[in-house]
Amino acid sequence: MSHASAQGLRRLTAATLTCGTCLAVLVPGPAHAYSGNNHEKITRAALHWESGSLAAMADARDGAIVADDDGEYFNLGFLHCDNADYLAPRYASAYPRTRDEATTELLACIRGAVARLREAVRHADELVDDDGRIIPRQSDLDPPCAWNEKERRAKCKVLEQLGRGWHPIEDFYSHSNWADKADAGPVNTDNPPGLNRTAIAPFFDVRRYSSMDDPAWAREAAGLVPEDLATGCYPDFESTGLKPVGCTGRIKHNGTLNKDTEASRRSGNGNFQRAADLAAREITRQWNDFTAELVETYPEHGRGQQMVCALTHDHPVSSCR
Ligand SMILES: [Zn+2]
Repeated sequence: MSHASAQGLRRLTAATLTCGTCLAVLVPGPAHAYSGNNHEKITRAALHWESGSLAAMADARDGAIVADDDGEYFNLGFLHCDNADYLAPRYASAYPRTRDEATTELLACIRGAVARLREAVRHADELVDDDGRIIPRQSDLDPPCAWNEKERRAKCKVLEQLGRGWHPIEDFYSHSNWADKADAGPVNTDNPPGLNRTAIAPFFDVRRYSSMDDPAWAREAAGLVPEDLATGCYPDFESTGLKPVGCTGRIKHNGTLNKDTEASRRSGNGNFQRAADLAAREITRQWNDFTAELVETYPEHGRGQQMVCALTHDHPVSSCR
């Protein structure tokens, strides 16, 4: 499954405008993330919302969940949890990146999700008045939300923050070896180890981290990263370590580690399905944590519960009394 061509073209245009030297991006290449269709499937499996609200979040082309795959920021590696590649000395004598550098990239991915959660909690306050009543214009989804960080409607703002925060987390499962089984034969940069995990990753405890200061949660999260965890090096993406990203000698996203489509090389061994299942369970966890945060942050007059109702219902003024 490849990206929809229109979306791809918009992406190429954005790349041309923002990255004059990245001419390689102009050559249509492999998808850099779960295709929109897979983001949609995962997100729909995770959430039980009314149809219009769910479509605003999950749609493969127009949903908040794919906003990070579009526009001028798409080539930032941390928005797709890329470039956290590492191979331990027992597999590779001189891997070009250290465990710490890889973990720094992963922390950047988590940090983005933490910031988005905080913003979503802040914007949700505008959905409901002081007495716990839904404010009609704030939860209107007609016309559809534009995911350009300029929306005025609170529901659009909250959905955008959530979608942009969840996208990298979904990508993590596709782009990492967390749920993978490696192929038979020697483990190396071409056949990275698989961690074969069957539970969601403990270092995406985004709600908890959102209440902590940055060094504290970063230390905690780093301590939960397994030695052999890797995501793939993506050649055109900027990484946070301020080193130019060259993927020579590294575990690559393209052709090696990604499970963005069922046809991806690493999707065998049941890897594609396990990654997608875990991503859906993860988004359910993220949503449940977010709703708990709203209820705890806004206890007066049941305001937090009303915010949850406004986000999940298509006609909250009549549905959320
Ligand atoms: Zn992505």
